[in-house]
Amino acid sequence: MLSYKNNQLFVDSVPVSILANKTDTPFYLYSKNKLSEKYNEINNAFSKVNHIICYATKANENVYLLKILAKKGCGCDIVSIGELNLALKAGINPKKIVFAGVGKRDDEIKLAIKSGILMFNIESIPELYRIDKIAKALNKIARIAFRVNPDIDAKTHPHITTGLSHNKFGLCFDEAFDGYILAKSLKNIEIAGIHTHIGSQITDIDSFILASKKMSSYISKLKSAGIKLKYIDMGGGLGIKYKDEKVINPVDYADAILKYLPGNYTIILEPGRFLVAETGVLITKVIYVKKTAKKNFLVVDAGMNDLVRPAIYGAYHEIIPVKWKNGKKHNWDVVGPICESSDVFAKDRSMPLASEGDYLAILCAGAYGYSMSSNYNMRPRPAEIIVEDNKYKVIRDKEKL
Ligand SMILES: *Cc1c(COP(=O)(O)O)cnc(C)c1O
Repeated sequence: MLSYKNNQLFVDSVPVSILANKTDTPFYLYSKNKLSEKYNEINNAFSKVNHIICYATKANENVYLLKILAKKGCGCDIVSIGELNLALKAGINPKKIVFAGVGKRDDEIKLAIKSGILMFNIESIPELYRIDKIAKALNKIARIAFRVNPDIDAKTHPHITTGLSHNKFGLCFDEAFDGYILAKSLKNIEIAGIHTHIGSQITDIDSFILASKKMSSYISKLKSAGIKLKYIDMGGGLGIKYKDEKVINPVDYADAILKYLPGNYTIILEPGRFLVAETGVLITKVIYVKKTAKKNFLVVDAGMNDLVRPAIYGAYHEIIPVKWKNGKKHNWDVVGPICESSDVFAKDRSMPLASEGDYLAILCAGAYGYSMSSNYNMRPRPAEIIVEDNKYKVIRDKEKL
């Protein structure tokens, strides 16, 4: 998606500087081709089995991107009524929507049942009772899966690991077992599947293998107890390359998982980051070059309100100039205008000489970028633009003051 021609950065066929000259920075810039490519990669990797790709909506909630995915047959993993509404509006088939989250409210459950979603991924026994009660009042049957927490260390950042026994997510195998037995006796509940999601930005294939093995033996235990399932939902978490991570190829991922899971089930995957991270960049402008006794700062017009990952996870994002300048490289701290010391995109990063008015591209910003943005410091959220068919198109305007 990214290339330099005559030292100018292009996103597909669009020169970024021309677009940046016409647009108020910062803005997110996506590639439709890249999004399609990423979807095809994961979808093809699982082509040998019945499967549904349920995109984890929270990674990027732009309805235009969702419409592109919907047209390709993608489903959604949702965590709120807002995401449900969005997915339906984008044309996602409700039969391909799964609903996770530890705190589903009554109004959310009600709309999800009415919409006929594929299943609720239940995270507690009280939630099971609540869904049964609401389904009964609506005179409907709600399909469910239990989210199990397999107590696996996914070897990722502590804020994005979700499958350890001290995390708030899911139920341990024994609790879920009692849950399934209970669910069997509830009249407005239909047991449809099982779900797990062990964390995000996972680059260690052994974590997925271990999860598959544990799920597999648990599913046979359920079977012996007369609990039959149709769907095995293995969650998301596939990592991407931000810096120099050795990532898992989707084909290896599929092979590793499918090797251990039993056959004759529909496999559900919930990739978020994998689908959208690399499809987006954040374009920002250098406001000031500030040199102090200790540091050289590039003060840019994007801040942690636009892209919060570096501030909250210490995440690394590659930063490249929109116009490449040859010559000696310098060490820069790239910082935003927000009144927080954590508003830093890069520290001591070696980049060509930069000056006021230069544009920079912050890479791999398509996932957990705009969707985690805020108005902190009373800043309007940035525009979102997509490159599609050799043209660009604004898919969300910059917020107004
Ligand atoms: C966040 C989340 C995902 C997506 O995780 P990625 O690392 O972005 O793939 C999938 N499923 C559930 C339940 C989640 O909470």
